[in-house]
Amino acid sequence: MSESCEQAGPVPVRDDLRGLEPYGAPQLEVPIALNVNENTYPIPEGFVETIQERVGKVLAGMNRYPDREARKLREALVTYLSREGLTVCAEQVWAANGSNEVLQQILQAFGGAGRSLLSFTPTYSMYPILARNTQTQWVPVCRPNDYVLRSDSVIAAIETHTPDIVLLCGPNNPTGTSLDLEVVEAAHNASEGIVVVDEAYFEFERGRKSAITLLERCDRLIVSRTMSKAFGAAALRLGYMVAAPAVVDALRIVRLPYHLSSLVQLVAQIAIEQSDRFLAHVDQICTQRDRLITELTHLGYNCHPSGANFVLVGGFSNSQKMFQALCDRGILIRDVGIPNHLRITAGTEEETEEVIRAIAELTKR
Ligand SMILES: *Cc1c(COP(=O)(O)O)cnc(C)c1O
Repeated sequence: MSESCEQAGPVPVRDDLRGLEPYGAPQLEVPIALNVNENTYPIPEGFVETIQERVGKVLAGMNRYPDREARKLREALVTYLSREGLTVCAEQVWAANGSNEVLQQILQAFGGAGRSLLSFTPTYSMYPILARNTQTQWVPVCRPNDYVLRSDSVIAAIETHTPDIVLLCGPNNPTGTSLDLEVVEAAHNASEGIVVVDEAYFEFERGRKSAITLLERCDRLIVSRTMSKAFGAAALRLGYMVAAPAVVDALRIVRLPYHLSSLVQLVAQIAIEQSDRFLAHVDQICTQRDRLITELTHLGYNCHPSGANFVLVGGFSNSQKMFQALCDRGILIRDVGIPNHLRITAGTEEETEEVIRAIAELTKR
């Protein structure tokens, strides 16, 4: 970042962190950014005005620490889940700064030195990083060619590696692949450890049942969610999870005191109260996702089935060149490191139009 940092010479960082670069997709100012699976629609009209008064009250009490247990926010999440037909209590719900922090707390409590985390790759690239940071052994097991997880192979992987934590992402990032609840239950029954289902993209899978419905039968199951994607509140940094109260109690041991600021708690609570408005564009986003699949398939590309708000597209003879050519036109998508593939977030109708048109033009050359 600054030259003086380098001039100071190497610092005595942990051996396993030496020479590493921080994780993160490029943050470029471009007209069309479809690279990190955000909801690209604007936040609901009037939201900012509605909360100004309540934010004022919170700021007036800023000299005091916030509610460490985030009780009101967790109650709001309980109400939100009840609208999905899910019955849980506040003792089963926990929230943190993004589901990344939720996952980190899970690894701090249930992973760590001498313990292991198994997941099925390709999957979310933060998992091995969180494992590394918490000194948890990372055990990646390859998905089959269609990326779909099936009970028998998941059970076999768990029996071979006996991991302390199994992490299943559904729909899976970056492939978009759906996750069957039957597989989740099989994983839970095959393992003696924690099974985490990352439902970051759950809201885009219309009509599917959440893994939260398995909690009655699966007491070592954790289901994590986020407000960063469908909810359209990526900058808020609010993730949450649902599990048995004993699991929540374990996370309360490792969490930093007052980890959720009073501003985040309040804004998240109000956004959840207005969830219908925040989630208003989910159907349109799904329509744009399906349109990406239809039209790019038409152009000869190989689009993987997706239950999320993005599509993994294969068949680029030179994916880096395509990425750069789109970038030059002000369209940012994602190179996820799978050869000949690129990942595209489904945005607004206009954004989808632009990205399809640009790819069509660049394909003809
Ligand atoms: C985007 C994403 C998250 C969300 O992380 P936040 O910290 O809540 O913003 C979690 N899991 C997966 C698989 C994701 O793609």
